[in-house]
Amino acid sequence: MKLFSSMKRIFSRLGPFPEHLFSILVVGVGCLVACEAPSGGPAEEATEASPAAPPVEWALAIHGGAGVTRAGVAAETEPAYEKSLQGALEEGKKILQGDGTSLDAVEAVVRLLEDDPLFNAGRGAVFTNAGTNELDAAVMDGESLSCGAVSGLKTVKNPITLARHVMERSRHVFLVGDGAERFADEMAVDRVPADYFFVQRRHDRWRQVLEAEEEKTASSAAPPALPTGQGRYGTVGAVALDRHGNLAAATSTGGMTNKRFGRVGDVPVIGAGTYANNATCAVSCTGIGEQFIRHTVASDVSARMEHGGRSLSEAAGEVIGEVLNPGDGGLIAVGKDGSISIEFNTEGMFHGSADSSGRFQVGIWAHGD
Ligand code: ASP
Repeated sequence: MKLFSSMKRIFSRLGPFPEHLFSILVVGVGCLVACEAPSGGPAEEATEASPAAPPVEWALAIHGGAGVTRAGVAAETEPAYEKSLQGALEEGKKILQGDGTSLDAVEAVVRLLEDDPLFNAGRGAVFTNAGTNELDAAVMDGESLSCGAVSGLKTVKNPITLARHVMERSRHVFLVGDGAERFADEMAVDRVPADYFFVQRRHDRWRQVLEAEEEKTASSAAPPALPTGQGRYGTVGAVALDRHGNLAAATSTGGMTNKRFGRVGDVPVIGAGTYANNATCAVSCTGIGEQFIRHTVASDVSARMEHGGRSLSEAAGEVIGEVLNPGDGGLIAVGKDGSISIEFNTEGMFHGSADSSGRFQVGIWAHGD
């Protein structure tokens, strides 16, 4: 529509022009623009529901973190990641197909990924500088804009469930540290001892990073650069549209390896790593949290749709491709029309998507390879 009115304005300035020739010209230019449209990520993943396609009744996208490189994931371990993603996707699909809510679906998916030591959330959380594990999570309901977030948890098995309790059973939005643990006591959620989070691979990686950073700090007065690379970050997330037209987003993480001083990333910051709004979309992010907080990435995708007239894939592609720096991370998003967008500017991102039209796919690398 925008293209049509802009062209009409230009042509009216040039003088009389036959209406039917004008229409042909608009269609031609429209086709050219559509063919040239840049895709900010893996093209075959960023599908928008075409106007001709039947409406999608439900849709789901999941991620298991963007801190993945080919050097860091041995080819023989890829099937294990894919199997975990498929299992999580199946669980969400079952709920959404059975008329369940998007909130139930995203919580259930994230709980499964939190229990899986492959991913940096819950059981597989990365280690802090002090050799501990501190977990963050957030959930948001697109219908009411209710949300709940938790940070710095040390004993909660499934932080996403505690975040949902904050949303539904407290007067607050964001609880941290000891206070969040006391709230966990009241909610009687599953608790675990510190060694539940011990995963040898994560511990080895933390030792490597710790030693490398200590060497760097000893040899330079400048603060260590922002961490990047395989094993430094991860995170899991899910976004969904249910049959009732409601969107929800959920994200959970152990943060970044060797984080210090009570560092909190983007995941529990509503609008940065997690956001849902029935007027636009639901978004869950993964990557270098500091960057996602600076650019309020998740709510920026929504704002570009609401105020800038962008489609979901245009908005997500612009934020990941133009606002962030290459290597910062990625996001998954579901639009209110059931469109799905999966964008990342890292080498890979564990991801999956499913919808009521039969779509069911998981992947790791760009362009599905
Ligand atoms: N964004 C998370 C954080 O900064 C890490 C990640 O997504 O891997 O805590």
